[in-house]
Amino acid sequence: MRRPLIAGNWKMNLDRAGAVALAQAVAAKGNDFPAADLLVCPPSIYLDPVAAVLRGSKVALGAQNMYHEGNGAFTGEISAAMLVDLGCSYVILGHSERRHIMGETDEQVRAKTVAALAAGITPIVCVGELLSERQAGQTASVIARQVAGSLAGLSAADCEKTVIAYEPVWAIGTGQVATPEQAEEVHRDLRRLLADRYNTATAEKVRILYGGSVKPNNAGELLQQPDIDGALIGGASLKAEDFLGIAAAAK
Ligand code: PEP
Repeated sequence: MRRPLIAGNWKMNLDRAGAVALAQAVAAKGNDFPAADLLVCPPSIYLDPVAAVLRGSKVALGAQNMYHEGNGAFTGEISAAMLVDLGCSYVILGHSERRHIMGETDEQVRAKTVAALAAGITPIVCVGELLSERQAGQTASVIARQVAGSLAGLSAADCEKTVIAYEPVWAIGTGQVATPEQAEEVHRDLRRLLADRYNTATAEKVRILYGGSVKPNNAGELLQQPDIDGALIGGASLKAEDFLGIAAAAK
């Protein structure tokens, strides 16, 4: 039985006071959703004050990115151990904004995934096709390539500890949500890919989140799909009421 994960990606938004206030509002209601795991991922500069707010609550803390090296001369980067030190239990890796704006590759995502797992952090590995790729009928091949590259060399046990987020790039921040059928089709393919790479038992254990314009009014239908195990939420996670409204749809 896979427990739904409702994850908020605050991206490069809010200031310190706003991040603390949002965390307080989410944490105050954290106990109201016993059927789901709740997670917020603030900007890294606000991880520490948000961690202080979340301490003792049921809401987990995650980062939006990390570097794969342990320590050293990597100016501006943050290691998995540093995230653990701040109380993070999750890290988003290979988000489409990092892949397409910062040019992050599958190989870099793979290295970060390995480092996160080694540090005991759950990686949320994002995959998803561009609109042009969907229109060219390449969705399945793009997803297969990203999974093969981003999870290369992972053992079945490590794969089971990893969360995958399917985020069609054309649906992120656009208000154009994938239909439940479109999303479920890719999630089913993803689980089949994992079964082929590992085995059915492993594939059945991996949580696969959907991300892309999830809102309280469309979350119910998406989260009812058999292979959709939660949501990665951008815009709607910046309002406690909307984020919690989506959490309420996770049964
Ligand atoms: C995201 O950033 O992962 C995302 C899904 O954003 P939004 O919910 O705003 O589409």
